[in-house]
Amino acid sequence: MDYLSTRGQSAPTPIDLALEAGLAADGGLYVPEHIPQLADTAPWPELASAATAILAPFFAHSRLRERLPQLCIEAFNFAAPLRPMRGQGDFLLELFHGPTAAFKDYAARFLAASLTALRAADAPVRTIVVATSGDTGAAVAAAFHRREGFRVVILYPQGRVSPRQAHGLECWGDNIHTLRVAGTFDDCQRLAKTALSDSELRARLPLGSANSISLGRLLPQIAYYGHSACAFFAEHGQRLNFIIPTGNLGNASAAFLARKMGLPIGDIHLACNANDTLPRFFQGQDYAAQATRATLANAMDVGAPSNFERLRHWHGSDAELRSAISASSSDDTTIRAEIAAAPTRHGTIPCPHTACGLAALHTLRKAGDHRPWAVVATAHPAKFESIVEPLTGHSIPLPTALAESLARPAQGEPLANDYHALRQWLLVLPSRG
Ligand SMILES: *Cc1c(COP(=O)(O)O)cnc(C)c1O
Repeated sequence: MDYLSTRGQSAPTPIDLALEAGLAADGGLYVPEHIPQLADTAPWPELASAATAILAPFFAHSRLRERLPQLCIEAFNFAAPLRPMRGQGDFLLELFHGPTAAFKDYAARFLAASLTALRAADAPVRTIVVATSGDTGAAVAAAFHRREGFRVVILYPQGRVSPRQAHGLECWGDNIHTLRVAGTFDDCQRLAKTALSDSELRARLPLGSANSISLGRLLPQIAYYGHSACAFFAEHGQRLNFIIPTGNLGNASAAFLARKMGLPIGDIHLACNANDTLPRFFQGQDYAAQATRATLANAMDVGAPSNFERLRHWHGSDAELRSAISASSSDDTTIRAEIAAAPTRHGTIPCPHTACGLAALHTLRKAGDHRPWAVVATAHPAKFESIVEPLTGHSIPLPTALAESLARPAQGEPLANDYHALRQWLLVLPSRG
């Protein structure tokens, strides 16, 4: 199977090239030529075996085909438990048990493992440029740290991530470089996209992408939806419905693909924060990207969700897309109230992103929806302790990996919100080692 661009101006591309390029040559996002169907939805014993089975058709013509099981074992080496919450039919899909305590660890680890496996021994060092709203950068840094042949440049919006997130972005050193940009996440994303489509720059400095627009990030995320939905279906004979805290739409696009592949997934609901570009669209307005607003759920502070282009590509019309997915928005007041209520209402302590999901669940339940819903828990609450602890009155123990990264010194550099500044900075990078 080859991969096409959402903008339709690039030649069909084999998966290995699409993984390395990140973005298609016409500036579009890679999408599979067709969506493979999985006939068998019997549950898998482990997440890694689910990942192997689900990814196999996408990698049918990859040089990595034979090594896929090994790559999946390497990337999916921490569990994604589906836990019942207090409340009939309420579940939490916990995706935060990895090295940087957010769901992005899965995809970042898979991407790093596959790019390493694809790399020729004599290939020049590739510089991965990644814009982050808070969690992507840390996950990508952790996944690529000290990997030979790769260097990572992280762009994050200064002052718009939690103190622990900032530390998690700046604590790596070695082949990881962190730039604090005087701007928003959308600015960071624009800078990264501009660099990646700057062919003159790329001729001088081999670049790569690791953003959620990258195919190597999108595809592995299908695994935990398939794994949990098949296990649920085997046990309960019902499709599991998902509420997904959403920003750039990468995680939810993977859920959509999982359902399209024939996995037993029911409804998909996008839980957004006050950045309500998607809820407005799904409630019937024309799509209109907005300026980013800073919220408590900062990893979802996205006004122009990149992966929307993929969802549009997969549907014949906006009306068809609106009937496939629903969306709602929670402002900071709702997020705070939800965090405060969650220990009693659900027996759990959520991060601010997960709280948007719980708020959406609460609204569905109040409207009389009795179906089984899994809220996707996208980050560990300890990453956002300055918000969560005062609201719940509980102190949150740090997961071990997070404690280790917080113990390392932070090192980052400021960068103006200006493409020429980034370009200059990148061009002198090789001379710095
Ligand atoms: C990235 C992130 C999100 C949003 O995921 P998208 O794939 O960008 O929609 C939600 N919650 C957390 C904790 C994140 O890090």
